[in-house]
Amino acid sequence: MRLCGWVLRSKTIGRVVIVEVSGGDVRPYVLVGKQDLNPELYNTLSTLPLGSAVCFEGEPAREQKSKRGTEFEVKSIKVYAEPIEPLPVELVGKVPSLLETRIKYRWLLLRNPVEKAIFRVRQSIVQAAREYLVNNGFMEIHTPKIVAAGAEGGATLFKVQYFEREAYLSQSPQLYKQILISSIPRVFEITPYFRAEKFNTVRHLNESWGIDVEQGFIESMEDVMNTLENLVAYIINYVRDKNKEELETLDVELPRVTTPFKRLKFEEAVDILRSNGVEVPEGEDLSDQAERELGKIMSEKGNDLYFIVGFPWQSTGFYYMREEDGHHTRKFDLDFRGLEIASGGQREHRYDKLVEALRLKGLDPANFSFYLEAFKYGMPPHGGFGLGIERLMMQMLGLNNIREAVLFVRDRTRLVP
Ligand code: ATP
Ligand code: MG
Repeated sequence: MRLCGWVLRSKTIGRVVIVEVSGGDVRPYVLVGKQDLNPELYNTLSTLPLGSAVCFEGEPAREQKSKRGTEFEVKSIKVYAEPIEPLPVELVGKVPSLLETRIKYRWLLLRNPVEKAIFRVRQSIVQAAREYLVNNGFMEIHTPKIVAAGAEGGATLFKVQYFEREAYLSQSPQLYKQILISSIPRVFEITPYFRAEKFNTVRHLNESWGIDVEQGFIESMEDVMNTLENLVAYIINYVRDKNKEELETLDVELPRVTTPFKRLKFEEAVDILRSNGVEVPEGEDLSDQAERELGKIMSEKGNDLYFIVGFPWQSTGFYYMREEDGHHTRKFDLDFRGLEIASGGQREHRYDKLVEALRLKGLDPANFSFYLEAFKYGMPPHGGFGLGIERLMMQMLGLNNIREAVLFVRDRTRLVP
């Protein structure tokens, strides 16, 4: 077979040279050249500069002695490019501890098994999600990322100049996926979210990615939560089964996930927190600190993944269905060890109620006319959610900073690379 990659490491022990090539797999290919058997190959392998781009012809060795990767008996090797300068970062062994360096040189560090493993898991997450959703009758859609209005109000929108007009980068496909429920029963989109949030936290990016789902003809919010919990379980179990080498490289043990996940009413969550001495102001969403504390308490009870349901109406977006009591909405969060990884709920599908909700939230229905129109011609009860890919990765892989979960970071200070 022919395999290609980059020379990661080279070592000579007596009359044997061992070269590691970082290619398509998590762990490197290990090429062994013995002077006594094949002097020509031995010489070529011995003189390969670190970082060279090479392809080789060979077969896996019958006897596998290396712990670091698959050993190959090499028939021939061809060099395609050599570095013109020494590499700016150390690629062997543990990746650099400085996050700054990892972000700057990610594209090069991906030759390292640890860095590569993280992004191979990311790829699996997307693949598993697509597989699960398509198999369950969801159609993949693409909605515009340049938009005239935001789903959550103006504060966190990036402005762009759109010819003579002002436009924004989409913070969520929310409104568009809902509109499409007037003609497609189930949709999903794997999409970037652009959010001009100025804060600098370990959980926020200004460009992040989500798996966004909307489901029509539901009986209640439960139908949507079922979809989300089964999706998340499918993704985690998929990675657990298919990414064994990646998880081993990252030293991560993923327990098998079973459904249903625990459902916790918002008030119950508040009670649990207060009885553990955590302050929760009346009527507000839970703070990040409160979420983390709740995560610890829930994990101790064996619930790493749990829903918080029934958020107070004043803390939620206008599009969530308001309960008859007027105080609650059919909104849920899915938390994973104390971090919100998804939000969703049942939407208001009744035209009059929706217009009323916009007014009550201080928004002008005229600005949402394109959206409202879709509710006039047979809009079924529906609901959906947005699941953050980087947040899910953080919790699955135990990453301390969300910046470890994206190839190229977009945060308050980073616009390159
Ligand atoms: P938070 O309150 O944690 O800032 P949010 O409630 O504003 O998040 P949603 O609008 O509910 O976020 O978006 C759906 C999901 O997308 C979130 O649960 C999260 O997983 C992910 N997400 C949203 N905003 C960001 C961001 N700035 N960085 C990373 N992931 C995000
Ligand atoms: Mg949310």
